[in-house]
Amino acid sequence: MPHLKRVKLNLMKSRPMHALAIMILLAALSAWPLAAQTTPKVTTPKEALGFNLGDDYQVANYTQLEAYWKKLAAESDRMKLVDIGPTAEGRRQYMAIITSPGNLKNLDHYKDISRRLALAEGLTEDQAHALAREGKAVVWIDGGLHASESVGSQQEMEMVYQMAVRTDPETMRFLNDVILLCVLANPDGQELIANWYMRGSEKLDAPLKDPLKRTMSGLPRLYAKYVGHDDNRDFYMSNMPETTNMNHQLFLEWFPQIMYNHHQTGPAGAVIFMPPFRDPFNYNFDPLIPLGIELVGTAMHSRLVAEGKGGSAMRSGSNYSTWWNGGLRTITYFHNMIGILTEIIGSPTPMTIPVVPSKQLPQGDWPMPVVPQLWHYRQSIDYEITNNRAMLDLASRYRETFLFNIWRMGMNSIEKGGKDYWTVTPKRIAALEAADAANPQPQGGRGGRGGGRGGVAAGGDSPGGGGFNVRSVPMELYNTVLHDPKMRDPRGYIISSDQADFATATEFVNALLKTGITVLRATSAFQVAGKNYPAGSYVVKTAQAFRPHVMDMFEPQDHPNDFAYPGGPPNPPYDITGWTLALQMGVEFDRVRDGFDGPFTKISGVLPAPASTITGPSSPAGYLISHRINNSFVLINRLLKANADVYWLKKQETADGQDLGTGAIWVPASGPGGTPARPVLERGAKELGVTVHAVAKAPAGDALKLKPIRIGLCDQYGGSMPSGWTRWLFEQYEFPFEVVYPPALDAGDLKSKFDVLVFTDGAVRLGAALGGRGGGGGGMFGATDPESVPEEYRGRMGRITEEKTVPQLKKFVESGGSIVTIGSSTSVADLFGVPVKSYLTEKGPDGKDRALPREKFYIPGSLLKTSVDNTNPLAYGMPRQLDVFFDSSPVFRLLPDAELKHTSAVAWFSGPEVLDSGWAWGQQYLDGGTAVAEASVGEGKVVLLGPEVNFRDQPHGTYKLLFNGLYYGNAKAAALP
Ligand SMILES: [Zn+2]
Repeated sequence: MPHLKRVKLNLMKSRPMHALAIMILLAALSAWPLAAQTTPKVTTPKEALGFNLGDDYQVANYTQLEAYWKKLAAESDRMKLVDIGPTAEGRRQYMAIITSPGNLKNLDHYKDISRRLALAEGLTEDQAHALAREGKAVVWIDGGLHASESVGSQQEMEMVYQMAVRTDPETMRFLNDVILLCVLANPDGQELIANWYMRGSEKLDAPLKDPLKRTMSGLPRLYAKYVGHDDNRDFYMSNMPETTNMNHQLFLEWFPQIMYNHHQTGPAGAVIFMPPFRDPFNYNFDPLIPLGIELVGTAMHSRLVAEGKGGSAMRSGSNYSTWWNGGLRTITYFHNMIGILTEIIGSPTPMTIPVVPSKQLPQGDWPMPVVPQLWHYRQSIDYEITNNRAMLDLASRYRETFLFNIWRMGMNSIEKGGKDYWTVTPKRIAALEAADAANPQPQGGRGGRGGGRGGVAAGGDSPGGGGFNVRSVPMELYNTVLHDPKMRDPRGYIISSDQADFATATEFVNALLKTGITVLRATSAFQVAGKNYPAGSYVVKTAQAFRPHVMDMFEPQDHPNDFAYPGGPPNPPYDITGWTLALQMGVEFDRVRDGFDGPFTKISGVLPAPASTITGPSSPAGYLISHRINNSFVLINRLLKANADVYWLKKQETADGQDLGTGAIWVPASGPGGTPARPVLERGAKELGVTVHAVAKAPAGDALKLKPIRIGLCDQYGGSMPSGWTRWLFEQYEFPFEVVYPPALDAGDLKSKFDVLVFTDGAVRLGAALGGRGGGGGGMFGATDPESVPEEYRGRMGRITEEKTVPQLKKFVESGGSIVTIGSSTSVADLFGVPVKSYLTEKGPDGKDRALPREKFYIPGSLLKTSVDNTNPLAYGMPRQLDVFFDSSPVFRLLPDAELKHTSAVAWFSGPEVLDSGWAWGQQYLDGGTAVAEASVGEGKVVLLGPEVNFRDQPHGTYKLLFNGLYYGNAKAAALP
């Protein structure tokens, strides 16, 4: 009770308020505070934490949250706490389930109803209606995914408390109709940021003296162990444990109909951005998704406004759209769930809402401006509670509709996947228009055509005709072009087990399984459309409830051209535009456009790497291993660690009828000290899905002999996300590495410590800028006062400089070290005298080269076809052509003296159309540009990887450019006898 009173008082005194607004507010609140009673036995946040959630200058950490939730779960008969899995740092991630005591007793039953409706399979419409009537709406609310956006975690705790304790009629209705899942999305991050904030600017271990000095800035490392803010970029891939945990609850356990993903911060001059979103939306998902988002979003705006809480913005109020897959919110769309994102202001240190004139005029996308004011943390939490309750209110009132609609969407998917169906994309519309233009017909022949040739008829009452221009084409083209039999959507995809890197294909299948996709495996050989497939091949049929996700993982994204105005600058997408996972991972698959079946069984759980063996004689001269398999690098790392000899052969080899790719790996039976290689290989073949070919006779000819390497992976104070992703990747592939910071580079003597230094995108901001995303750091370079930073992080401060760092790097390379650069860090090429410059330039009015403007060239995250010289050791094991991930990446022009300076192009763009997935405005400018190059500098090697070849650890197809690059520069030419 005291707490509830405090909320009301806080709202009333917290800001100047219009009398009418106060009346509306009191009317809205009067429903519950008077009737509310606090169950005495339930601990309040203040009793648990020593402060109220949302008090100025106070943030609760995850240790406190965990203890408090455990206490509430023990005290309340409405709450159950579930451990959903480990975090990257080894904590346990918890989900609070809150519903009425009666529902809690039948949790498994309601979960089953939710699952059956979401998967739709085998349910008639009548059965679906009956289940919808019986079931409970399942609503997911998470908080704290981006830990430094701390309103999220604190509102989550407050929400759980209020739902556990409130007894007003509305809450009782929610509890009866809804099963609420509350998930703390990033426990490690909450612990880090809360402890960092509460430490103030004094010494970490000193008791806090002055709360006014508390600050969230200057965080020493990423707030997710490896990936920081990119923890919301991992959802179709599930690389991180927290992602896997949450995907499991969403798509394999609970199947919520609505989910809400809390973020910060709001648009300047407003308080919060909430859906509806701007276009483009994704043509793969069911139309009930955007409509459901509109419905829930509008209910949230309405409730805020009814409570006198102004400052909510939608659509053009920010750049969020529903195009992209891969975030916690967005992946749910591809699973027929209504995903809500909000971005709110708020900080434990009070802040000010500035006067932004344009945000003071009410309009469609921000209906009720907020009074600029000093803004307290608690106000943000109260806004979020209002939003949460708006969603619960809708879920309660429309419970049956939401439950039925998820069945409807699932059944729509199953039906589309079971018949001839055509997904309409911007390219298909362009084809329709082109067919019409190429096929002029007499006017009379055109039924229903509006305005004659040119086809424009303005709506009579709409001056300017915005949105009312009608251009029609003959029905015949609708049938023959838009529904061209050759362009039918696949009924399914087959991933053959006889492909070069089946272990990687299996990892792709695991990504699908972790997001609830049904995948089948062939128990024996079979034939489809005249092609034979071996046993063990995978099959993904599109006739399943989550078909939109299947299509999105296999098919190219066709992003529309999106400009501010015709001829104007492009509108940046929210995140990226093309990501087709099967293409990124270099998985070989076949599309099947007719119904098919075979000896298939459903896979449950996730798959281990396909076990393989050592083939051939038991006492061989040595072993050949394909360079085409990514996991071969795990083997190489283990072999070198075990003191075995490893060579890459120059001549292309086959073994047991298999093409081992360029640079086949040769391992003599015993190493220099007589160490046998076989035990390592035996274990590796079994664990890693790498076939090892024992051969009686050693191969002859030119080779490169690898030496064990010491890798320095460069990072910075605050943590760089590209470096963090690379750190995780190196761990997965068992590369020996050490993370290195600018002070250690400046200290010099690098050759005695490292053989290769890796600079990921954004690591270096020197030299002639060639392009690139520029990284994405979790923090700063260390502008923070070192005295305020704990001892263990001080050695990370400072930045790479031309004066101190570059001379050391030069010394390192010239004496035989290797430098591997990715994305924007390729700009160091200039400092080492590598003869390249940017390819993407034009002549400016002053006659000088300048970067192509965005109106002409714009590729914000797409997959592009690249040609590869796979006889260069940097590209050993790769196909001649493959997709690279390109996000404003550097493209090089080799200067005329390139050959003289031992610089070669290893991958390049060829032809006017290289786009495979996404959006590539002005792609013809890429024709002839170099994507990957390598140069000898002194005794050493500099590798330039323009595209981010391990972007978010998704493009397995291009990992080898990085992996080869690590070993190549230190390998020595050898002639095998
Ligand atoms: Zn965020």
